[in-house]
Parts: sequence; C-alpha cells; structure tokens
Amino acid sequence: MKHSSQNSNTLYLYLEPYTFSVVSRNDVLIYNSLNRKILEYRGAAAIADLISKTEDASEGFLAEIIVPPGQSDISTLLSDLKESFSGDLVSLQPGNKPSVIRPKPVIKNYPPAKDFPSFSADDYLRNIYFFLNEDNDKLCTNYRFASEQFSCPVYNSQGYSEMDFGVVINACSPHSGVGGIGLDLSGSDITRYSRFSDMLKQARKLSLPLTFHIPLPCHEPDLVWNALRTVRSRVSFYITFPDGPSALREIRKNPEFIKKQKRIELNFLIRSIGEYQSLTGLINEGGSEKTFIFPYFDGLNQGFFKENVFLAKNDILNLKPNQQQIYSRSLINEHLFGKIFIKTNGDAYANLNHNSIGNIRDARISDLVRNELYDGQSWNLTRMKVKPCSGCLYRLFCPPVGNYELFMKKFNFCDVL
Ligand code: SF4
Repeated sequence: MKHSSQNSNTLYLYLEPYTFSVVSRNDVLIYNSLNRKILEYRGAAAIADLISKTEDASEGFLAEIIVPPGQSDISTLLSDLKESFSGDLVSLQPGNKPSVIRPKPVIKNYPPAKDFPSFSADDYLRNIYFFLNEDNDKLCTNYRFASEQFSCPVYNSQGYSEMDFGVVINACSPHSGVGGIGLDLSGSDITRYSRFSDMLKQARKLSLPLTFHIPLPCHEPDLVWNALRTVRSRVSFYITFPDGPSALREIRKNPEFIKKQKRIELNFLIRSIGEYQSLTGLINEGGSEKTFIFPYFDGLNQGFFKENVFLAKNDILNLKPNQQQIYSRSLINEHLFGKIFIKTNGDAYANLNHNSIGNIRDARISDLVRNELYDGQSWNLTRMKVKPCSGCLYRLFCPPVGNYELFMKKFNFCDVL
C-alpha cells in the first residue's frame, strides 16, 4: 500500500546534494558534509533498500515511500533526516516525478580519453622524484624499506649505484618552469653523489622548485647549505636512529641551519615507542622548521603499528571530511596522485610498491604519465578498490590509502573490520 496524502499524491524521499550515503548489506551510514552529522543504522533492510534508491540515477534519486511511515523504522529515518537537514520528503502527483539533481564528482580531463588531442602530462604531474644514488651501506640496510614508505634513504641490495644527472636534465627539461611541478632529489645519501656541486648547478637551470631528501646522519652535512642557496629549494631531512638525533643536534648549531630553517623539514622515522619518546625534547629544541613523525615499518614491529598507528572507530568518524575531499577521494588517491619515482637504473614508478610504468632511458616523463593514467595502479587507488575497505560503512571518512598500507598489503589500519 502506498502512503498517500489527501489528494492521492505519492511521497518520495530525497537526500540533500551535500549528503552522502554508504549502504553495506543491511547497514547504512548517512553523512551530512555541511553540518558533519552522521546517521547510522544497523541491520535495517528497509532503510538500506530505500537509501540505495536515493543514490540511483535510474530512480531519479528519489525513493518512493511504500511502507506507511508510522509502522516501521522508516519513520525514525525520516525524522532523523529532517532533524539533521540531510533529506526530506516531497509529495508528488503520480507520474509527475521530477528528476532530482545529485552532484557528480568530475576532475577536468581525468581520466583523459585515449585519443585526447591536447594531452599534457603537466596537467597531472606534481612531483618528479629522481634517486641519484642507491646503496646497501649500514644506514640503508637498517632502513631498507624506507623508500617504499617515504622516499629516503634508498636501499639497493646490489650495492652502490648512481644516476647520470644528464638523464635527469633531459627528462625534466620539457617541464622546466611549469607551475605546480617540483623536482625531488633523493637517494641513499645524496651528499655522497660523486659530482654534487656540478649537479646543483645543473639542477638550478631547470627552473623547478627543488627538494633535497637527505638522511641524518649524512656523509657531508656542509654540502646541504649549498643546496639551499637557491630560494626555491628546500631540504627534507630524514632522522634515522640511533645516530640521527645527535646528528640533528649538531647540524642545528650551524648558523646556516638557523638562517634557513623555514626551508627545512624534519622527518622522524620512528620504529618503536622508545624512539618516539626520545623525540619530545628534540622537537622542543627546534625552531621554525616543519616537523613530521612517520612510523616506519621494518618488517618486525607490527605490534608498534597496532598500538600507535591503528585508528579506532571514533577517531575515524571524527575525521569528518568535507564535500570536496569526499569527491576527490572517490576518484583519485590524493596522497599518491601526480608523483613519479625514478630509480638509478631508470625504472620508473608511480608508487614504489607497484609495478614499473616504464624506464626513463627509453620513455619521456609524459609517456610515463600516460602509462599511469591509462593502465596504472597507484594514482586512482581509492578505498573502493581495496578489501576490506570496499565493503566498509566508514570508507567515506578514511584518508586515502597510504604507503604503509601498500607496503604491508594491509588496508584496514583500524579496529573496524
Ligand atoms: S576497513 Fe578500511 S575503510 Fe573501513 S574504517 Fe578500516 S581503514 Fe577505513
């Protein structure tokens, strides 16, 4: 029996355009991205069916209310939606169903059509990472999985190798001066790069913002100040244990560090709670440099991750993304998008945990971008593409899939599923 008003109209339910829903079997989550209200219903088959219809274009994004509202949990849903300004009922003449417009996320030229006439890699590219050297020395061996999780230091079981900087110049020249693209120079320890000063001179000619990724302790700390002579350059230090903290204290005494600290980032790679606790004093001793703490998975410290990285359900629900974040996360991976990594042997990756997308010795950067856009695994890796997140009610809330998850091949860093 249809619920009808006095003039035999039919009632339809609609969700507001800023409201998002996830239906997983008989469970439903509704999220109002304007006032950040969350409604959750478990084991509610009728609600699940109704909400699915409000997301269905072929139903006009309208769900006909068939069950009389007063007789089911539908009435609870309707009043919750109304009270939270997330949706409402509309009374319509039969056969007079208007089409409700639900916004759909679209990124300009993404994904690009295969025959897109004016394809430009610069529209998609954000950071080009070149590894200038790779090694299996003690520091790199202690952090042998770092490049899969961050970008430095870089480990290579074969021993020391270097990238010819001419390859970097040839590859990056077509993108020189393009706004929004940065060149990131990393490696096992680039202060050991054989022609460091010459490399700097050439890198500056590229007219791209430069970021130098350097582990601490590094081989030649004084070379770093030369790297920062260009205004559009930054240094990102990776503080490794056990020697990184004392190397940091030492380098902080250098007057150049104090002068240039606004262009210095500190990344602490933490493997245990003990290392984490040792940071408090170290961070407080600092100035205006940016500081990041990254838990580092060394293959053995799963317990540390479980205790300190896993998110509880309430933490996840408190993340409350805005509409723009939800749209963008439904299409691309904001963490990974636009990045290309190139190893000393020329092999290129959109993410080092995925397959290679070509080799820079026989492909241009624009070819690599094309390969990733058409056949890649990284830039478009949303939570909908990994299990168990694809079936999780809270997937709207979680940040994009990150490198730890890819490296550990575990995507639910949470206590939910
Ligand atoms: S299972 Fe995945 S989507 Fe769900 S809460 Fe955990 S991490 Fe987020």
